Amino acid sequence: MDKKIIVALDGYSSSGKSTMARELARRTGYVYVDSGAMYRAVTLYALRHGLVTQDDAIRIPELIEALPSIDISFAPAGADGVQHTLLNGEDVEREIRDMRVSNLVSPVAVIPEVRARLTQLQKDFGKERGIVMDGRDIGTTVFPDAELKVFVGASAEERARRRYKELLDKGEKVSFEEVYANVVERDRIDSTREVSPLRKADDAIELDNGDMTPEQQMEWLLERFRERTEQSNTPAR
Ligand code: C5P
Repeated sequence: MDKKIIVALDGYSSSGKSTMARELARRTGYVYVDSGAMYRAVTLYALRHGLVTQDDAIRIPELIEALPSIDISFAPAGADGVQHTLLNGEDVEREIRDMRVSNLVSPVAVIPEVRARLTQLQKDFGKERGIVMDGRDIGTTVFPDAELKVFVGASAEERARRRYKELLDKGEKVSFEEVYANVVERDRIDSTREVSPLRKADDAIELDNGDMTPEQQMEWLLERFRERTEQSNTPAR
């Protein structure tokens, strides 16, 4: 049987990497893990438990203390084809995507203790390989030994347009300006934080998908996947 590999997809917010990662997992029978959903779930926990002040400051020591009581898991994709994120067993897939969580998730993801805990959980998910994970630091920190690393990029404007459309489709009342500001602010926080900032791993392949259709992106990704699987199944001479 073919040896399974690890696929790491990193990139800025709303670059389309989750859609690509999810589809690749579906086509290859690999497990898909959305690492951003895990940061979002911790953020939702903080919001629900009074760990965010009136002026949106995170109560960091209290959140760190609460970490052992935050369990995050995933329910396999159901009829809608989407995997659902569970926070202490409760399906929170919808709530973790709203603007309130989006606006607070990057400051939560800056906290080193939060990163350490989620990174460990993510590594555990990949123990058996055969996994596609998307995020910001998957190729650099979580799986530095991933056989296939892709860094996905597109302009902030293009990414905001996609996100805006997604939110409108879901019936959220937001303005384009608000979504654009959130994308730019998250980019800034994600790429300047001290621990595991967003950056392309040296051995990652860059993909600018601004002008590509989802089908073209998938074709491109499947080709890279086949190459890497073949390489890792060829005994070194
Ligand atoms: O991927 P998504 O946009 O849902 O991620 C939400 C936020 O979680 C990101 O803006 C980033 O702050 C954080 N994140 C992270 N490391 C990851 C995945 C997400 O810091 N591996």
